Amino acid sequence: MTHPAQPKASHFINGEYVEDTAGTPIPVIYAATGEQIATVYAATPAIVEQALSTAKAAQKEWAKMTGTERGRILRRAADITRERNHELSVLETYDTGKPLQETLVADATSGADALEYFGGLAGSLTGEHIPMGEDWVYTVREALGLCVGIGAWNYPTQIACWKGAPALACGNSMVFKPSETTPLCALKVAEILHEAGAPAGIYNVIQGMGEVGGALVADPRVDKVSLTGSVPTGKKVYAAAAAGMKHVTMELGGKSPLIIFDDADIDNAVGGAINGNFYSSGQVCSNGTRVFVQKGIKEKFLARLAERTGNAILGDPMDEATSFGPMVTENQMNIVLGYIEKGKEEGARVVCGGARADMDGYYIQPTVFADVTDDMTIAREEIFGPVMSVLDFDTEEEVIARANDTEFGLSAGVFTNDFSRAHRVIGQLEAGSCFINSYNDAPVEAPFGGVKASGVGRENSKEAIKHFSQVKSVYVRMGDVEAAF
Ligand code: NDP
Repeated sequence: MTHPAQPKASHFINGEYVEDTAGTPIPVIYAATGEQIATVYAATPAIVEQALSTAKAAQKEWAKMTGTERGRILRRAADITRERNHELSVLETYDTGKPLQETLVADATSGADALEYFGGLAGSLTGEHIPMGEDWVYTVREALGLCVGIGAWNYPTQIACWKGAPALACGNSMVFKPSETTPLCALKVAEILHEAGAPAGIYNVIQGMGEVGGALVADPRVDKVSLTGSVPTGKKVYAAAAAGMKHVTMELGGKSPLIIFDDADIDNAVGGAINGNFYSSGQVCSNGTRVFVQKGIKEKFLARLAERTGNAILGDPMDEATSFGPMVTENQMNIVLGYIEKGKEEGARVVCGGARADMDGYYIQPTVFADVTDDMTIAREEIFGPVMSVLDFDTEEEVIARANDTEFGLSAGVFTNDFSRAHRVIGQLEAGSCFINSYNDAPVEAPFGGVKASGVGRENSKEAIKHFSQVKSVYVRMGDVEAAF
């Protein structure tokens, strides 16, 4: 019998599901059991062509609609997404292995927020009037054209919406390629947009590995590429986009600092460290994986952290009591276990966890290392799993320098009750998305994105509009034209 997670077909193009079994089969594995629950097929060149040509053809008419009309469709899609939240959350759990306790509140719901927010903004996108004496200049905010979205596997619904909603609000069309690891959820986003009234071709989804993404990025009809992925992939995609002078948004990896001063509320700081390391089993780009704790509270902090981490409930992700799920794939589990071994070899102290969990599926125990030093591999490289490194520090000046000593710059957080210190420290941290006495909040109203190797451009908020549109400037002369001859 077909598993309920099996989609009707692999691709959604021009308003309908499309199959082409000539593509490479991609098995979809449920991370909690290792069972194959679905199969999709990578896009063949014919499918890539169909996706691009229909998206290209649909865009001009879509851009001619008023922003209010486009926005209405996006807001309707938000409503449908919310109505189906349970069903979509179950699918997200099958796709990623993340516990239903999380997916019910963080995935389709955050996708719906993006559809609603950008749907609301669509009608308000205007240009400027710039007086020049009796002449004037006016500006028009225009769509870029055909955009490509490429997603990572940790938030398949959210990423599909965070890219699709602002792109469509501005009058662009989009071809979205999810990660081959989590191909199911974006198809639902396309289906819902279509049901809400989006014209055929405006939001197409096709499957495939890196080479399908590469074919999309290289196509001369594509005007913009928005990628969520790792830094190495980001460098390749950015270079390929540059060859065609395309716009880019790069949402890449991080190794973000979370700084806890000794005057902080310990339980809040522990809560921030847990949210910033163990949500989605640590598979979050903005995680604060380098937790710098001022020496005066170190042991107290570690004791409370170990106690609360011990309350994590590992288990069946479909059971709403489960608060901690498996790694997305066996491969990702092995990568993370490799980092854990490296941490032990390099002399870090295991405070809790430190091994695979003794159960079926790709579960790793939430792991805390203490006595981590800046040069250790676990303090330098993005692990993308439930591994927290706790480092000690003495002074504010020292911790700022050490926090910034990384190629990454996605996020940063500070816990302190001294508000002038909080702002002073945040002001000096090289990161795009920061938190004071909190960690990992990502409301659609706030810009999200990184500096340094962590990315280019911003998602969410009004900033995203700038990255999915361009400004045309028009000079209007009222009098005669003076010329030299
Ligand atoms: P990858 O970089 O491996 O892949 C990202 C996407 O790019 C996938 O869909 C992948 O396809 C595709 N891809 C790979 N090679 C190419 C290429 N040459 N041209 C075009 N597309 C290509 O990332 P992961 O999926 O492993 O996700 C984890 C990474 O994503 C982490 O580094 C994490 O920090 C980052 N991330 C960043 C976020 C942010 O907003 N800053 C949010 C979430 C994650 P396929 O995998 O199917 O081969």
